[in-house]
Amino acid sequence: MIPTPFPNQPPPFEGHNLFAIDAALRSTVERSACAWAIPQLAAWGAVLGLPETYALADAANRRPPSLHTHDRRGNRIDEVAFDPAWHELMRLAMAEGEHCAPWLAPQPGAQAARAAMYYLHAQVENGTQCPLTMTCASVPVLRRHATSAPQLREWWLPRLLATGYDPRALPVSEKRSALIGMGMTERQGGSDVRANITQATPDADGAWRITGHKWFFSAPQCDAHVVLAQAGGGIGCFLMPRILPDGTRNAIRINRLKDKLGNRSNASAEVEFDRALAWSLDAPDRGIATILEMVRYTRLDCVIGSAGIMRGALAWALHHARHRVAFGRRLIEHPLMANVLADLALESEAAMLLALHLARAWEIDANELLPTAARIVAPAAKYWVCKRAIAATAEAMEVLGGNGYIEENPLPRLYREAPVNSIWEGAGNIVALDVGRAVRKQPEAIEALMADLDLARGANAHFDRHVAALDPALRRAPDEPAAARRVAQALACAVGAAAMIRQAPPFVADAYCESRLAESAFSGAALGTLPAAADTRQILARALA
Ligand SMILES: Cc1cc2nc3c(=O)[nH]c(=O)nc-3n(C[C@H](O)[C@H](O)[C@H](O)COP(=O)(O)OP(=O)(O)OC[C@H]3O[C@@H](n4cnc5c(N)ncnc54)[C@H](O)[C@@H]3O)c2cc1C
Repeated sequence: MIPTPFPNQPPPFEGHNLFAIDAALRSTVERSACAWAIPQLAAWGAVLGLPETYALADAANRRPPSLHTHDRRGNRIDEVAFDPAWHELMRLAMAEGEHCAPWLAPQPGAQAARAAMYYLHAQVENGTQCPLTMTCASVPVLRRHATSAPQLREWWLPRLLATGYDPRALPVSEKRSALIGMGMTERQGGSDVRANITQATPDADGAWRITGHKWFFSAPQCDAHVVLAQAGGGIGCFLMPRILPDGTRNAIRINRLKDKLGNRSNASAEVEFDRALAWSLDAPDRGIATILEMVRYTRLDCVIGSAGIMRGALAWALHHARHRVAFGRRLIEHPLMANVLADLALESEAAMLLALHLARAWEIDANELLPTAARIVAPAAKYWVCKRAIAATAEAMEVLGGNGYIEENPLPRLYREAPVNSIWEGAGNIVALDVGRAVRKQPEAIEALMADLDLARGANAHFDRHVAALDPALRRAPDEPAAARRVAQALACAVGAAAMIRQAPPFVADAYCESRLAESAFSGAALGTLPAAADTRQILARALA
């Protein structure tokens, strides 16, 4: 007789409140300017942890979107059809304001609260976060231009700040809410957007016509995209609606959807523009500066999203290891497995703290130091946290043994999801080099960073030594491109460690500093290499309530 349930297979993880079981997140939020958001975060964590929400995430990724270029009469429609699960996930996230909350209700802590919301969502589903991120990042840029552009003021901004999901393909004036995408990357050059060949030419009434293509154009169903195009004197930045004010379709042809490694619930398209109508968002040669205003927010979301992916993978791994017995003991009781899990927990907590610290730089009441330091902290965090998510999801998957590799749990999906945050919005080398570029342009970012790190000095000798070495390394960074990854890693680890020293218990901060910042720390080592002094028992007790 086969026993039911079969022994030694862990119970389902689904059904937990993802906020309630995350002691590190809770204590960080409780002690921060966004403590007012705790009821909402607790409610959101409960919704996300439901078995039904995991099932939606699974369905939206198993049945990816499909492209319908023509209707049955042969007319071009360029529609993307999504599984109902996608729409439900979008509805849930927009109701929370994940695409707009800090702009809709600006107040101290609003950015951190939204970051925590996004972090929880990232533990369960990631494709839906793409249009939410791009929309959120577009608002400050569109606002800056709203005074001179009535269509932005009257049509777009109120709908970008609306929380009722409306996927209909209608002119924006007829919609309840709107979503925005971004189109920068072309076939001949993505990172090097100056090599773009798509052309913009002025048309009547201040409008422009855009002809060319985008090789990556995620979320093509969005109501508009912010696109870059050559505009005569330089690269311009334009808002290109999908549906024109008269209800006809703009001349945006979707050639095909990408067949992607991960992020499969989300549609990423290749498109061509045939004199597509667009409105300029800035002077025709200021396009790169304008889009970079958006990119600083999308990069922040890459950091938060990667931290969330790590946490999602860790929570499943911890749950499994607490229930599964091998060689007469629960997995978590084996010293080497405890080391692996504790190391993962440290990486995950550091990433979360770094993401929330970075989010504070964009709070309305941020002190001057944080935004100045963020000029170098943001690219370094984007480099390091996104890279670590790839290693951490692989390791968490292995904790589940063979089951980890099987699509019936979310670890394979989280693993496939992790690399994209490292590639888009500035691939690893680009963002690592960005630290040096920023130092050259704004050397005061180093002083701002050091002043911020000073607040954590004196508590840990490894940290103090690491920070002392970081200062000269940053000053050399503009002239040493080959060392850019090393510097970015050192910077990101320093900020993560400082946040830990200030906010986490000493057994967490000390283990992190000794394993990451000590001179004897293995550089590039696999996870699960914590020194003997690390208190893995306490770290693990804290990691999953
Ligand atoms: C799933 C997905 C969705 C995407 N969605 C969008 C979207 O919606 N809109 C959009 O505009 N783009 C999108 N992208 C494109 C993405 O932003 C680009 O792929 C990325 O910016 C890299 O550009 P590239 O592919 O042209 O690579 P390249 O620019 O050719 O870079 C290739 C590699 O070379 C490295 N490299 C480049 N220059 C240097 C240098 N000077 N020194 C050292 N190394 C260097 C890069 O780090 C990278 O590793 C998406 C990509 C993916 C995978």
